[in-house]
Amino acid sequence: MYRVEQLIGGVWGAGGEGGELVVHDPADGSPVSAVPVATADEVAKAVEAARGVAAEWAATPAAERAAALHRAADAVAAMTDELAEAVTAEMGKPLGDARGGVEAGIGTLRQYAELGPLRGGRTLHGGADAIDFMAPEPRGVVAAITPWNDPVAVSCGLLGAALVTGNVVLYKPSERTPATGWLLARALDGVLPAGALSLLTGGGEVGAALAGQEVDVVAHVGSTATGRAIAAACARTGAKALLENGGSDPLVVDAGVDPVWAAGQAAVGSFANAGQICVAVERIYVHRDVAEDFVDALVERAGALTVGPGRDPSTELGPLVDRRHRDHVHGQVTAAVAEGATLRAGGVLPDGPGAFYPATVVTDCRHEMTLVREETFGPVAAVVVVDSFSEALRCAADSPYGLAASVLTPSMSHAQRAWRELPVGTVKVNAVFGGAPGGAAQPRRGSGQGFGYGPELLDEFSTVKTVHLEAPGGGHW
Ligand code: NAD
Repeated sequence: MYRVEQLIGGVWGAGGEGGELVVHDPADGSPVSAVPVATADEVAKAVEAARGVAAEWAATPAAERAAALHRAADAVAAMTDELAEAVTAEMGKPLGDARGGVEAGIGTLRQYAELGPLRGGRTLHGGADAIDFMAPEPRGVVAAITPWNDPVAVSCGLLGAALVTGNVVLYKPSERTPATGWLLARALDGVLPAGALSLLTGGGEVGAALAGQEVDVVAHVGSTATGRAIAAACARTGAKALLENGGSDPLVVDAGVDPVWAAGQAAVGSFANAGQICVAVERIYVHRDVAEDFVDALVERAGALTVGPGRDPSTELGPLVDRRHRDHVHGQVTAAVAEGATLRAGGVLPDGPGAFYPATVVTDCRHEMTLVREETFGPVAAVVVVDSFSEALRCAADSPYGLAASVLTPSMSHAQRAWRELPVGTVKVNAVFGGAPGGAAQPRRGSGQGFGYGPELLDEFSTVKTVHLEAPGGGHW
């Protein structure tokens, strides 16, 4: 069992007077991690301590900060297996996927280590005896509040970008993956000056206490409801809110595509990581011409997945993160069925321990159903049949979210219409996942605000100072 410790003011094992949380393995219910809960007072002290070292880290040469981040990437790489095992034990994803998330995180740390010292600003030339320049500066104290679904990749992005740009960081990992966060913080703290990174653990109340503090940035990856609460807290303190939140990503399946190939894409989009991916396919608008063959192939795919604990190498579909989340997923599926939808695969709670949920295909869905409009975050493909590509685009665009969308089409003009008309941060044509390294996107509406990834994240954690220099007395230098 992992025994998690907090890191406050450079001291491991500090605080935890708010009690203890125990995380259970979603595959079998056995206890995995014991976690201290921070009090509001401990959170305030951690912020004060971080503020105390912020100026020193900000003044550290950019190349030295970058070198520290390279060492951080090495330290995380040395713990790849340990981190992947913790992810699987705490949130259930297949071990190979968990390792992929750790490797993605290491890659991100290395990218930011390379990009950090290359940053500069513009120089402006006004009068002959004057010069203006724009210098990037760290924002100061960053609160990084992260989710459980890909905990290492997401955390490495926020922590790496914030640290390399000269900010100190208070890290609050999800209460569902705290040991993963603790292992990551240990790796990073070992190569950073004392106090540059702090670790606070506990549930949403600890995140709320942190977001309410006088910090400079609150960076949150997580649900839309939490993001909105954080935005409200930031409005009160003046902190910048960087929000990467939930989505209900559509997949449009156009007439003329190979329905079996399209079903393969839909299966990956809906069932990978048991549907617990921010950009998972949440709702499918399929053209009537291909709908029957598409659904048949999707049902076959759903039934062919090997279900089991994430630590078993043959597992393709692990459990959901916990039973509370399974109740949420199953509640949306049963409500849709009660409103007239048809279960074509899955949708039945299995017997036995853990939080397993089968790959589920629901047809005869209507656009206005909660299963279609809201984020399910489970292995559920909700299928709506449409009569035209225009109808599919209209439905896909009609959402309180704006994270990403995928379109499968053989038509170049439909592909062009899709990326122009869909009001989302990322449009993917003929692949549900993928994208070039370094890609970044700006979520819209309920999905958040600001770049959460890519080189642009370095800008989010920086501010720019503009300096105007002029010769004294209007004369010469
Ligand atoms: P969550 O918002 O419940 O929790 C995320 C973090 O916020 C946790 O550390 C939690 O303790 C903290 N928190 C909870 N309530 C808080 C409050 N009132 N104030 C401050 N902090 C609080 O989200 P989750 O369930 O962990 O993650 C799943 C969600 O994350 C999904 O909606 C998913 O789409 C989203 N997500 C989005 C992205 C993206 O890039 N857009 C990436 C991954 C996950």
